[in-house]
Amino acid sequence: MAAYEYETHTYDVVVVGAGGSGLRATLGMAEQGLKTACVTKVFPTRSHTVAAQGGIAASLGNMGPDNWQWHMYDTVKGSDWLGDTDAMEYLAREAPKAVYELEHYGVPFSRTENGTIYQRPFGGHTTEFGEGPPVQRTCAAADRTGHAILHTLYGQSLKQQAQFFIEYFAIDLIMSEDGQCQGVLAWKLDDGTLHVFSAKMVVLATGGYGRAYFSATSAHTCTGDGGGMIARQGLPLQDMEFVQFHPTGIYGAGCLITEGARGEGGYLTNSEGERFMERYAPTYKDLASRDVVSRCMTMEIREGRGVGANNDHIHLHLNHLPPETLAERLPGISESARIFAGVDVTKEPIPVLPTVHYNMGGIPTNYWGEVLNPTAENPDAVAPGLMAVGEAGCASVHGANRLGSNSLIDLVVFGRAAAIRAGETVNPETPNPIPNQASIDKALDRFDGLRHANGTTPTAELRLEMQKTMQQDAAVFRTDKTLAEGVEKMYGVAAKMDDLKVTDRSMVWNSDLMETLELTNLMPNALATIVGAEARKESRGAHAHEDYPDRKDDEWRKHSLAWVDGKVRLDYRPVHLDPLSTHDKGGIDLKKIAPKARVY
Ligand SMILES: Cc1cc2nc3c(=O)[nH]c(=O)nc-3n(C[C@H](O)[C@H](O)[C@H](O)COP(=O)(O)OP(=O)(O)OC[C@H]3O[C@@H](n4cnc5c(N)ncnc54)[C@H](O)[C@@H]3O)c2cc1C
Repeated sequence: MAAYEYETHTYDVVVVGAGGSGLRATLGMAEQGLKTACVTKVFPTRSHTVAAQGGIAASLGNMGPDNWQWHMYDTVKGSDWLGDTDAMEYLAREAPKAVYELEHYGVPFSRTENGTIYQRPFGGHTTEFGEGPPVQRTCAAADRTGHAILHTLYGQSLKQQAQFFIEYFAIDLIMSEDGQCQGVLAWKLDDGTLHVFSAKMVVLATGGYGRAYFSATSAHTCTGDGGGMIARQGLPLQDMEFVQFHPTGIYGAGCLITEGARGEGGYLTNSEGERFMERYAPTYKDLASRDVVSRCMTMEIREGRGVGANNDHIHLHLNHLPPETLAERLPGISESARIFAGVDVTKEPIPVLPTVHYNMGGIPTNYWGEVLNPTAENPDAVAPGLMAVGEAGCASVHGANRLGSNSLIDLVVFGRAAAIRAGETVNPETPNPIPNQASIDKALDRFDGLRHANGTTPTAELRLEMQKTMQQDAAVFRTDKTLAEGVEKMYGVAAKMDDLKVTDRSMVWNSDLMETLELTNLMPNALATIVGAEARKESRGAHAHEDYPDRKDDEWRKHSLAWVDGKVRLDYRPVHLDPLSTHDKGGIDLKKIAPKARVY
């Protein structure tokens, strides 16, 4: 057994992650009077949330009529009827409250002429249950909304006396013999010490796993660490086959050009200069939902109408918009386009390509953020002591496809919900159970094994092989053949984990070891994604299957569950069809959200 010393810290709640969801949960837990620690591998305001540009959806109705029922309908339709109805209702209903809270905490939102929060149109957000014109629902702080939210929430969390453990890398969960989560083991990156955080409740807010792919808009730190930790405890991941490609990543660099660019009037053209989205989505055109626009762009390129020397990308035009609008509403992306594509957006179009952007799948939870450990008898059974929020979790409000600006609202609504729930279930008066030594030792052994890994395959090399395989075989277009080949290839790639070579054996700032730990987290996420995709014989949301072009509700309106332990074992759990409140109780008219074809 590996001999390592560690320091033990005792808290009511430990939140792993300091992005928008982790900070909102941390702040809320501290406000509830719970002794709360937030453990994060990067400085809080460097979390990927800082890069969110476009905005946060809530039916404030500042720029025309809107209500939460329309927002809920759009979310249900956007999810391609895979989201859980109760969770989607909770999201839409609580959204305005959560945004006003942010405003009161100090988020510097852009303003309308009469001083209310500015809202812009975003793809898939409509009026009149999809029958009316696009709605302006996305609240924005210019095109730096995530930045504004993150800085505000960090300041507020400090004010509430939450304790931050910054540049601590969470390695594994500590679990009792009977499956109660009791804390986490973490590694302090700058001095090499190890730390056990004992807690009555652990909240995983570790973000997405975009870096399982070669081209992604997400930060290099988005490595699905929470999902990896869950898989290692024999708990399942949910709906992992649904990966969102954003239509407008900058060609070559992958950095994001926000959908807000099309919200402000930008449009796409092919090599013939045609505004092709008018052909595919006559009503909402360039503001159809993301999976639709990404697929149309891919289709144009496959049919030879891509732009550039290799006909392999698409143009995004902003050059017809007034320069003042660009400077005021889209300053950040004007800069990104100049730096990463060498383009002056006031004069030329931006070269763009669909790029991995968001993971709809993740750790299954109910709408209080409690992690689920589904059994045949009870598909909604809760794993005690564990919560998951944000992109790491799957509540599930995005189902098979997330609408733009619905993630930032998911972070704060469910970060807040988790805190409310913990306020009810965690008793600050009772002592913490003593963390299970066997579980700590197991985590230390795994850490030590990787630290001394002495095979022949460098981590960076294996990571690249995984990223290229996922990009090639589990991207926008999927067929039986590519997916089956991809599964074979990915099992081959994963098998090489036993042959990893780590060259740096030190404990201090050992990025080689940290990236290896991250690879052990990316890999189960990637495997669950491609195996889940191969099994799902239909098209739904982001999972567009060329051999099965239709959605099959009778057979496939169900969540997939993936247990990853070397191989992937799949099972399914039912989608929650009942809303929290029906029409008679001031809620939603069930007929309005019944499944139908998803056209824009
Ligand atoms: C470029 C870009 C633009 C976007 N724009 C928008 C937008 O305009 N509107 C919208 O709604 N959505 C947008 N999204 C999506 C949205 O921003 C993300 O889904 C969301 O920010 C994720 O937040 P999070 O709290 O789940 O995690 P993140 O912000 O990714 O934070 C993860 C946290 O977990 C910590 N962590 C991870 N692993 C460990 C570990 N092992 N140990 C310790 N700490 C760990 C990290 O340090 C970090 O603090 C955008 C995404 C991208 C990539």
